[in-house]
Amino acid sequence: MRKALVTGSSRGIGKAIALELARRGYALAVHYAGNQAAAEATAAEAKSLGAPQVVVLGADLSNPQAAQKLVAEAHAALGGLEVLVNNAGITRDTLLIRMKDEDWDAVIATNLSAIFHTTREAIKLMMRAKWGRVINITSVVGILGNPGQANYVAAKAGLIGFTKAVAKEYATRGITVNAVAPGFIESDMTAKLPEAVVAEYLRQIPAGRLGRPEEVAKAVAFLASEDAAYITGQTLCVDGGLTPH
Ligand code: NAP
Repeated sequence: MRKALVTGSSRGIGKAIALELARRGYALAVHYAGNQAAAEATAAEAKSLGAPQVVVLGADLSNPQAAQKLVAEAHAALGGLEVLVNNAGITRDTLLIRMKDEDWDAVIATNLSAIFHTTREAIKLMMRAKWGRVINITSVVGILGNPGQANYVAAKAGLIGFTKAVAKEYATRGITVNAVAPGFIESDMTAKLPEAVVAEYLRQIPAGRLGRPEEVAKAVAFLASEDAAYITGQTLCVDGGLTPH
């Protein structure tokens, strides 16, 4: 039985990832920042879908100590930790000249530095187990850029570089490190966008629709599996054809 921690699994894409791993028989640590009731609901659904063990853990990942502690707690509660999905993320969108220091710092802390802190802890545990999977949820905007999101794009592009570097460090140890880059996915994050912005995105997406959280979750579950053992350092776009390669 594999044991997985999915950060930010109270809602949205993280919730879909937790539920997909539950269907595949993983023991799970469901994580939230402030929304405990939603995390408890994810946990109940995960159990009903077949997860043999589910724990619910809260942590503000913008706090480095809390991020490190979360990994230790998940490991202790599940009796091991083989899969870490760094999914939690925030936006503080505005044009660069209006962007406050706090907007920059909050996004870098939550979307980039937190992943350094959780991954460093998890890799130590995975090295002992000689098996591990780290999957970082970045974004297509980390590849393409996007106006109004200099902080978010910098964090998500940084995460792609971090993924490549850490993948190379631990490739001989049975540990893979990959990124999944969702395009525009139906969630609370994109529900905040103005209608005109969504219409413009739809015009650009070859598939002609937004993605669903479940479609991102399937890609994550594949990368977490034994079948993906020879894939590391990659960024898999789940974006309806938006990103050219
Ligand atoms: P969402 O619905 O807004 O959910 C965000 C999750 O992150 C929630 O579980 C939230 O916990 C958690 N979180 C927020 N701030 C946190 C903090 N300081 N510490 C710890 N956890 C925190 O987001 P989503 O749309 O599912 O996005 C999930 C990931 O996919 C993010 O990394 C996002 O950047 C990425 N992504 C999303 C899209 C998209 O179109 N939606 C596209 C590309 C990439 P609470 O519920 O407790 O607040």
